[in-house]
Amino acid sequence: MQDTSRRRPALPKNYQLIYEIVERSGIGRHLTSSDIYAKALKRRPGIGFSTVYRGLERLRDLGMVSELHVPGTDAAAYEPAGPRHAHFRCRKCGEIEDVPYAIPPRTLRTLALEHGFAIDEERVTFEGRCASCRPS
Ligand SMILES: [Zn+2]
Ligand SMILES: [Zn+2]
Repeated sequence: MQDTSRRRPALPKNYQLIYEIVERSGIGRHLTSSDIYAKALKRRPGIGFSTVYRGLERLRDLGMVSELHVPGTDAAAYEPAGPRHAHFRCRKCGEIEDVPYAIPPRTLRTLALEHGFAIDEERVTFEGRCASCRPS
């Protein structure tokens, strides 16, 4: 395991708290900023929503949390930074699940080359009905 802790800049206490909340939610959980705010309030009464929001932006920019915009949802969701993966959104119950899939780097390179653009990021979302909502 690579030790990244040394390279991490010191975070303000509030941002550290936000980071812990996202990190502890675990891989595969997708919290909105309102969910995170509600949890932060319990641990630090009086914390402002804008502090939480700014903290999430900062942590995202540092690559410490991942921000995702799943089509069909209004709010961005946050999850611990981890391996690249795709998402599945259930159209019926709105559940968002991780899917261990990423577009092969080779495909990305070919697409970029063919179209002459530079790809910074990919977001793959599948939609349909989850295992519980699927008609049997
Ligand atoms: Zn469902
Ligand atoms: Zn995810």
